Amino acid sequence: STERSTAAIAAAEAHGAHNYHPLPVVITSAEGAWMTDVEGRRYLDMLAGYSALNFGHGNRRLLDAARAQLERVTLTSRAFHHDRYADFCAELAALCGKDMVLPMNTGAEAVETAVKTARKWGYRVKGVPDGRAKIVVADNNFHGRTTTIISFSTDPEARADYGPYTPGFEIVPYGDLAALSAAVDEHTVAVLLEPVQGEAGVLVPPPGYLAGVRRLTAERNVLFVADEIQSGLGRTGRTFACEHEGVVPDMYVLGKALGGGVVPVSAVVASSEVLGVFRPGEHGSTFGGNPLACAVALEVIALLRTGEYQERAAELGEHLHRELGLLVGRGAVEAVRGRGLWAGVDIAPARGTGREISERLLERGVLVKDTHGSTIRIAPPLVISKEDLDWGLDQLRAVLAG
Ligand code: PLP
Repeated sequence: STERSTAAIAAAEAHGAHNYHPLPVVITSAEGAWMTDVEGRRYLDMLAGYSALNFGHGNRRLLDAARAQLERVTLTSRAFHHDRYADFCAELAALCGKDMVLPMNTGAEAVETAVKTARKWGYRVKGVPDGRAKIVVADNNFHGRTTTIISFSTDPEARADYGPYTPGFEIVPYGDLAALSAAVDEHTVAVLLEPVQGEAGVLVPPPGYLAGVRRLTAERNVLFVADEIQSGLGRTGRTFACEHEGVVPDMYVLGKALGGGVVPVSAVVASSEVLGVFRPGEHGSTFGGNPLACAVALEVIALLRTGEYQERAAELGEHLHRELGLLVGRGAVEAVRGRGLWAGVDIAPARGTGREISERLLERGVLVKDTHGSTIRIAPPLVISKEDLDWGLDQLRAVLAG
């Protein structure tokens, strides 16, 4: 029976704001790459919490780290030191090849922190006149939902009716170096980009773009801020998507998988010349850098240090893209993009919307999420087995065949 699901969905609609339109499935437990609903049906998770679950549901090492910390201390606030903080900062800085970390909780907060850091750096270090700092961003970006962040979104849904908007941002076409170069002026403090645009449909920039952005920003004394919240921490087959072009940005913005899907953990990671601009009282968060978050993130970093997850994402990703590539140009799929275990699949409109394809996949036991009308994105936990991935692809082929 689907009675329990129907009742749970109706109750959610009655008392929860309608800011999402979830697929009609009510999950009650999960392990690895699989989720189970309240009816006892199992589903292959091919979304992985928008890449927050890179290490899978119920990852033993992450749960053990969380459990051990739960029994000791979970929150001190930053009014006091705690004994997991120093290790967390040092380990995360080392993973990024940087020397300073500023922890927050959600992705949007980390992006806000990056914006504030870049502006403060601009005024205090670069010497930009007060109130004139400019940050250059890309069209079709997704950096979060706060009022400042949606101020530089080009997505009407994300932006409409939330004005007045925060000034100080210039939007240029993603992937266009000449446009970026023209937008950068003496008041520009940062270029803020996703190395792969996730929400836009897993858009990989043209070869040479990120390296070009690196060169340009270095030449013009502008910070290159890479929002690796969705692209980072193994998803693309490397620890960071910037690595595919040998690029080290000035600032990494991290979130999602940093908390392993267990707790929200985000951070800005940079050199001490950049993050050193903050003085006590100038920025903060009650929960940012809390002991539980640090304990889980430390284990996440330890998992990444093995390199196994990046390797899996690279190998399985190659397989995924080979298989998806075979679907292009045969009527049902117009284009496939992506990198590593991460793909955006543009469905031919005649075969249905991304939502309809997602609903048909749900009926076959596969969970994906549509984006921007006709695209579905595939981003399973990096722990997925090749057999399960192939089974998921079989379901996709069956749905596309009609
Ligand atoms: N930046 C990027 C690239 C994202 O993909 C997201 C979330 O999808 C965010 C920022 C915002 O993260 P959060 O939802 O945790 O605020």
